[in-house]
Amino acid sequence: MTAAIDPLAPRLRWFGWGPPGTVDPELPAEAAPLLERLGAGAHTPPVALEDVRLPAPRALDLDALRAIVGPGHVRDDRLTRVSHAAGRSYLDLLALRAGDASSAPDAVVYPGDADQVAALLAACAQAGIDVVPFGGGTSVVGGVTPAPQRDRALITLDLARLDQLLSVDPTALTATVQAGMTGPALEAALGGHGLTLGHHPQSFEFATVGGWVATRSAGQASTGYGAIEELVTGLRCATPAGELVARDLPATAAGPDLRQLLIGSEGALGVITEVTLTVRPAPAVRRYEAWTFPSFADGLEALRALEQAHAAPDVARLSDEAEVALNRMVAAHTAPVAGDGVAAILGWEGDADDVAARAERSAQIARAHGGAPEPGDGGEIWAAGRYAAPYLRDVLMDRGVLVETLETAASWSRLLELRGAVAAALRGALGERTLVLCHVSHLYPSGASLYFTVLTGQRAGQEAEQWRTAKAAALQAMLAHGATITHHHAVGRDHAPWLADEIGPLGVATLQAAKDRLDPQHVMNPGVLGLA
Ligand SMILES: Cc1cc2nc3c(=O)[nH]c(=O)nc-3n(C[C@H](O)[C@H](O)[C@H](O)COP(=O)(O)OP(=O)(O)OC[C@H]3O[C@@H](n4cnc5c(N)ncnc54)[C@H](O)[C@@H]3O)c2cc1C
Repeated sequence: MTAAIDPLAPRLRWFGWGPPGTVDPELPAEAAPLLERLGAGAHTPPVALEDVRLPAPRALDLDALRAIVGPGHVRDDRLTRVSHAAGRSYLDLLALRAGDASSAPDAVVYPGDADQVAALLAACAQAGIDVVPFGGGTSVVGGVTPAPQRDRALITLDLARLDQLLSVDPTALTATVQAGMTGPALEAALGGHGLTLGHHPQSFEFATVGGWVATRSAGQASTGYGAIEELVTGLRCATPAGELVARDLPATAAGPDLRQLLIGSEGALGVITEVTLTVRPAPAVRRYEAWTFPSFADGLEALRALEQAHAAPDVARLSDEAEVALNRMVAAHTAPVAGDGVAAILGWEGDADDVAARAERSAQIARAHGGAPEPGDGGEIWAAGRYAAPYLRDVLMDRGVLVETLETAASWSRLLELRGAVAAALRGALGERTLVLCHVSHLYPSGASLYFTVLTGQRAGQEAEQWRTAKAAALQAMLAHGATITHHHAVGRDHAPWLADEIGPLGVATLQAAKDRLDPQHVMNPGVLGLA
């Protein structure tokens, strides 16, 4: 007899990336000199689950919660609590791998519908129980990592059971979905209607629609499809003060856009239960090509020209020399290319004629800026491995490597200096052995995003402080160069100290005022966005 599959079992292994039972990829032999160059030292595998230190649960009336969601939908066993203790930032993984689950919730609750979410929030507000909304748990900014020291009980509200496509409007080309649907579940359900959302963050396999909306996520094809904030036409959000509904509308002039207040609210105002999204017919053709440019500056000019001429591909990613070099060794973020220069992925999706015409126009502009298509199937190789890079992180951490990513956006006129400044800040904090890789991943008429990957040897005994110092230096450099502290990872708890530098103290106070109204007892995800 085969054991029944537990639909609420953690989707990610508790200490890293990939489903439970993931077999780590092997590092190629060529990686040995890289590890030496980085100064990576000791072999530091994660501790065993039994050895993880879990705080004793605070007093909590679990029966009252069970009365709302049903007896099987409240859990407080070791694996469930540890699996909901943190997201997937480098700092999260450092703590988990070292056996520190001090941020674990006292229990995890799995509501089955929007009414149960509303009832849970009302009960928690009344009893003074803090609530962390949890989608895929892939936050990289401390969004699901509450402070370990706390006075009140805390539950994680896992939306795994809200996993249905509710309706499709084939005329308006919209789909209404429950917030807990993961990327693959959503695309499979939409595929049954011949549709796609086209939202593919690198965390696509595990992240959820609600998480995307709550963090203003961007996907690998967001230049063409739009980031999630451009795709939401309506949503429902349960708050302790009642339900806030942004009706499904193509546009409205009915005051400031409440939809946009909730998009990016990171669980601080309430729980997004349902989202209506703009969808498209599933593309008949997906064409991804590898291109080379003489330099990063040339590639940037090409991308700017493409975007400003309304000729940008749906996927437009430009990697710098360091990222191209690393990619020759282990999957990084681009296509394998021969020779000097930098690499880009240009990709178009749609019907055959449309793709052919758009690709031709993009190619003309790219060539005029020194670009050349790379022979071979580099674009397809990138597409096949587009979710692969995160699986290397656990292996690198096993070998004592600090490996983390960070991202920002700024105007075209500042991007080159910004890239230099952020890289210099990171090297200044981490040492000259540090590798800083960079790519452009999302284009806008006035600017673009920059995404950095950082690799260096861990400083034994000071691993967390080592990264915190470097991250702070990088954020200061971003602010000093007119860039945002985050393009798509959100604020969470990790970026909160810098939010006022970006939006001003009055901006933060405005957000706090919204929270005070929607969450008067301040039970919703305390600390994210720097809000009480
Ligand atoms: C390897 C890796 C690659 C990544 N690549 C990308 C990328 O390409 N693009 C990108 O944008 N991000 C990326 N991320 C970051 C992360 O995946 C995104 O922030 C994602 O949107 C989070 O979705 P989630 O469902 O995992 O949310 P969670 O991590 O569960 O939650 C994130 C935040 O949203 C809140 N939240 C979650 N669900 C709800 C809800 N229904 N209502 C209210 N609040 C909610 C949480 O409380 C938390 O504050 C990556 C992360 C990792 C680890």
